Amino acid sequence: MSQLATETTARAGTVGADVMRVHELVGTNDLRPKCGAGKDEPVDEWLRAVNCPDCQTR
Ligand SMILES: [Zn+2]
Repeated sequence: MSQLATETTARAGTVGADVMRVHELVGTNDLRPKCGAGKDEPVDEWLRAVNCPDCQTR
């Protein structure tokens, strides 16, 4: 199997209505942003690069 070198196992997604900030997600069956943003907001998973500074520094 060959995959794009830039792809990692990290998953990314947005929280609630803020679709500009892409968070890194933790867990495979618990899609929460790593930085803990938007506790009770729905998470949408995206195939996009993580751009949340809080997630990137952890
Ligand atoms: Zn984040």
